[in-house]
Amino acid sequence: MHSHIIKKMNTSLNDTVHYSLNINKQDYFLNNLIGKRIKINWRGKVICQCNKIMSKFYRSGFCYNCFWNSPLASQSIFKPELCTAHLDIEERDLEWEKEFQLAPHYVYLANSSGIKVGITRSSQGVIRWMDQGASQAIILAEVPNRRFSGDIEVSIKRHVSDKTNWRKMLSGEPKYIDLVKIKSELSNYVPDDLKKYILEDNTVTEIKYPVSEYPTKVKSLKLEKNDCIEGILKGIKGQYLLLDNNQVFNVRAHEGFIADISFEEEISQGSLF
Ligand SMILES: [Zn+2]
Repeated sequence: MHSHIIKKMNTSLNDTVHYSLNINKQDYFLNNLIGKRIKINWRGKVICQCNKIMSKFYRSGFCYNCFWNSPLASQSIFKPELCTAHLDIEERDLEWEKEFQLAPHYVYLANSSGIKVGITRSSQGVIRWMDQGASQAIILAEVPNRRFSGDIEVSIKRHVSDKTNWRKMLSGEPKYIDLVKIKSELSNYVPDDLKKYILEDNTVTEIKYPVSEYPTKVKSLKLEKNDCIEGILKGIKGQYLLLDNNQVFNVRAHEGFIADISFEEEISQGSLF
């Protein structure tokens, strides 16, 4: 039994993605738990990134104060095309925004449930794709700041989705897509002044997930509705644990929940990668 503040799972790219969960400073290698029972017991409390403990979040995983004041919850977090740090214009905290926004970013195309466009800090590239459960991904452009990636994304998402259909993503592997061809087609829609950032490298990253059985009809579990979640782990994809009886649990959507997590069999500590 481990009392624990839920954080997203750590991933590393291998033949199949390796997942681990850090609980009380110990890494647990989750791939080894497939076929075993897992239990998550919520204690009825959540903790905000500012350390405030409450019975529930105000909105989007934040307390009231952080939601309205923290740069982590500002509008440009959800809409990168609103970023202004590159113009020295503050939204909520210019210092923080410069650090976050003025770094190389990728615009990528991924196939998790069909084609989608997205952006990410370039240091996060493949992690972002694994978190979304993408099976294939290609970088379309590399730009020097977050705003430019938002501008390119806006021009591309008139033609393809910017969302993952998570139910579809969890129900199996998507149909193969020729990402190199689609990249070349969509590159025409990149605004002229940003075309110079289109990446010539057409490497496609292919990603496989440790799944022994996909759900036939996805039933999403939420701790707010069900404070004890239990089942046999059938696989892991994106940030979801796939349990028996078609149950799925989105780990990332429960970040900040204080819960006890237990496994059928304890696994030994230490680095397993
Ligand atoms: Zn807070």
